[in-house]
Amino acid sequence: MILLAPPLAGKSTQAGPVAGRLGVPHVSTGELLRAHTERDTGIGRAAAAHMARGELVPDDLVLALVADRLSEDEVAHGVVLDGVPRDLAQAEALDAHPRSRPDLVLLLDVPDAEVRRRASGRRRCPNGHVYHLTDRPPAVAGRCDVDREPLAHRDDDRPEAVERRLSEYRNRTGPVVDHYRRRGILRLIDARGTPDEVTARVLAALS
Ligand code: AMP
Repeated sequence: MILLAPPLAGKSTQAGPVAGRLGVPHVSTGELLRAHTERDTGIGRAAAAHMARGELVPDDLVLALVADRLSEDEVAHGVVLDGVPRDLAQAEALDAHPRSRPDLVLLLDVPDAEVRRRASGRRRCPNGHVYHLTDRPPAVAGRCDVDREPLAHRDDDRPEAVERRLSEYRNRTGPVVDHYRRRGILRLIDARGTPDEVTARVLAALS
């Protein structure tokens, strides 16, 4: 299945419980790409500038990463995809393979004003643990509770990049939403409120 959403709607937060309920792995293209940029690989260097500006990374690069991950035995019985597809070309590429053609697409819906509020307060440690300055502050300011690493504001959570990401979502991911709606596999989830409230709605939609 696929989790589709505007930026900051909580895709990665909700993917964990969804994957747990379905008993399949969770694959996030944002996290795959960030792991490459943090290790400064060739893929990471090709993606970094696009990501920092809030633009989509080129399709061929993302699709190669996804194909590589989906070739692993661990995902033979299903996967929760988070962050992909972001445009129609990616949706068509996923449809072309049995391991990635979705049976169900959950769309997490939040208003733009809430996206901006979440972005301004979100902080992340280098290992991917996520906090929010007011909604979910760490026990010690600026430090991850899990591994004590310093927390940072993602470049693409800064205001100009957030505006770009919202417009990429509207213009390029909008047609993907219509594509799945026409196929009758799209379920809309109200993603306002606390993560636990949203998880309850998401799990209800799965049952
Ligand atoms: P996310 O963590 O899903 O918000 O993704 C962060 C950034 O990674 C996005 O703003 C894009 O620059 C890039 N990205 C992640 N997934 C994709 C994708 N499927 N296609 C293109 N770019 C992506």
